[in-house]
Amino acid sequence: MFIDSHCHLDKIDLSPYDNDFDAMLAAARDASVDTLLSVSVDMGSFPALYERIAAREGIFVSVGVHPLHSDEGLVEVSRLVEEAARAKVVAIGETGLDYYYDADSAELQQESFKRHLEAAAQAQLPVIVHTRDARDDTLRLIDAHGDSRSAGVLHCFTESLEMAMAAIEMNYFISFSGIVTFRNAEALRQVVREVPLERILIETDAPYLAPVPYRGKKNEPRYVPAVAQCIADLKGVRVEEIAERTSENFYQLFRRAAAR
Ligand SMILES: [Zn+2]
Ligand SMILES: [Zn+2]
Repeated sequence: MFIDSHCHLDKIDLSPYDNDFDAMLAAARDASVDTLLSVSVDMGSFPALYERIAAREGIFVSVGVHPLHSDEGLVEVSRLVEEAARAKVVAIGETGLDYYYDADSAELQQESFKRHLEAAAQAQLPVIVHTRDARDDTLRLIDAHGDSRSAGVLHCFTESLEMAMAAIEMNYFISFSGIVTFRNAEALRQVVREVPLERILIETDAPYLAPVPYRGKKNEPRYVPAVAQCIADLKGVRVEEIAERTSENFYQLFRRAAAR
């Protein structure tokens, strides 16, 4: 059984399924992907995400504002904490820093990230962190405002081994996406070889970043076993072991999901 620890189910292209959301989910289940975490990127679409998608068995959600959506206005800590009290919210995020796409809004992104870290500490939920070209600031803010008990995950990780290990020191997990399968990602594959298996999660980040051999297609949760297979090859273990270990890790981090 595979868990897709990070996808955006409200953004999946359903045209191959005649716009039937449940048919897309059934295709994921046929591929042994039975648990999914659908991640929030803005407060405007959160209510619909919760009402329409999180009601289903095996689907959990987070609440938060993506760093590249910080311009929609800063969210209040109290609002995040309030929404986080809903039963199927298992994390705060995705939040974080993306200087690759938008270095101009760095200050705004940092303020937003700080608020998410504070809300997560109050709610005692883990944080889903998006980080790109912002290694030092990401680690510094987690250290200053995060709570190492509830901790979090660096998702769709593409940074250095040094950064991964610094985050693990702060009780974080590292999540790898289909990028690990890309031909030009040898440096990232070296990071996968070094990061301990008990700290690894897998994700699709669907509808973005379809793994090889589906590259170029729109991504879906049913492709997460391809990420697991790549990690299995790099670690020299069977894919079943990756499925089992990453599922255990998922429930260790997202404790509210384990309680259901
Ligand atoms: Zn992200
Ligand atoms: Zn995402």
